[in-house]
Amino acid sequence: MREDADEVQYFCEKCFSHPELIAEVKDRGVFLENCPICHGLNVQALSIDDATLRRMLRAFFRLYFSEFEYNEHVGGESLGFILFGKNKIFDLDSSIANEGEFEAAVSSVESGWYPPSDVEVSLGGGYWDGALLFSPYDWLDSEIYKIFARSLTTNYYELIEPLRALFISIRANVSRQVTSDLHLHRARKGFDKRYSARGEIVGTSYAFTPYSGKFIGAPPISTAVEGRFNRAHISVLYAASDESTAVSEIRPEPGQIVSVGKFKQVKPLLLADFSISSIKPYLTDATFQQLHRIISFDMVLSVPVADDARPIYLIPQLVADVIRSEGFDGIAFDSTLSIGRNYVIFKPEAFEFVEGSEAVCVVNKLQWKTSRLPVRSAKISKENDDWVEEPNTLASTLDGLIEMHRRRVKGARRERP
Ligand SMILES: [Zn+2]
Repeated sequence: MREDADEVQYFCEKCFSHPELIAEVKDRGVFLENCPICHGLNVQALSIDDATLRRMLRAFFRLYFSEFEYNEHVGGESLGFILFGKNKIFDLDSSIANEGEFEAAVSSVESGWYPPSDVEVSLGGGYWDGALLFSPYDWLDSEIYKIFARSLTTNYYELIEPLRALFISIRANVSRQVTSDLHLHRARKGFDKRYSARGEIVGTSYAFTPYSGKFIGAPPISTAVEGRFNRAHISVLYAASDESTAVSEIRPEPGQIVSVGKFKQVKPLLLADFSISSIKPYLTDATFQQLHRIISFDMVLSVPVADDARPIYLIPQLVADVIRSEGFDGIAFDSTLSIGRNYVIFKPEAFEFVEGSEAVCVVNKLQWKTSRLPVRSAKISKENDDWVEEPNTLASTLDGLIEMHRRRVKGARRERP
């Protein structure tokens, strides 16, 4: 592919959008005056033959793309074509960057789709035998899917042991000891008291006393209602890494007044953390399988559930049972409603309210993004109908939610005009 086999090709820090790739290049790169791909000036860069960079890139290709998207034998476009531009991996201005140089570099990294050794991930599954590789975001781990589908028809206690076996297979990868210093944010709709200013002639000014202390903490057991990770009368602390995520997660309405406050950790915690902070533990086919399982857990835990689909809470509640009985004190995962992370703490007493951190805010504006879904015409005659009515709409609601989450994570893909 290369015009001159002796000439070293590079990716620079400005070629990438993914923070872990940028950090890797900044950390170990060499100085380059002008990047031949993105034309960034005075940058750090790594050779495309760098073994770690190559392995990371291949794992990211697998993470965000499925083979049907990038295998031209099964109707896809080449990786070089799909990836040229702005996406989860690269940040290339297509009017400035050199597409030919880029495609040659990607082609070199993807060479060897079916690696003979266990040093890097495969990019092909053997399509001639009908096997295609899927992005972990396109296809739930089949063992996990089976259990979650059964959870809507089988009592939860029947499923605890099979789910435990799956959790144990990824336990080491998601275990995170947090000894101290975790500060979390909580939000609660409403406020304690409202005051109006005396003697105002035009209009009225208000001041508020927010909920604070135990009134913004985990609810008492006697009044605790069912939540995503708790059955009724179980008190857990739901919190977030930042105020805006905490507010988003309670889903306030525009104009609603919300109390917020901070909590600080006072006891060491063992958390099951499902966010992927680094691709590096998953650079081979075998370890990539574990990544798939972790992402499957994460997708099912974090999909937003509408009020009319609340029986789906059975699934995260079942996961919480297993994780708690494995000795964990809580769960952490990325929010789908905001940029931060969510925490579910099984022992609320591990956190103390930070005196004076309480505040009141009003929700000015919510922004909803919608996309059209297929509509079946009511006029179709039975003989010509390609659609079958779903026998269990709850199970398909779960599939639909996961599909929605998938689109959000993977983003739009480059299409030929
Ligand atoms: Zn560059």
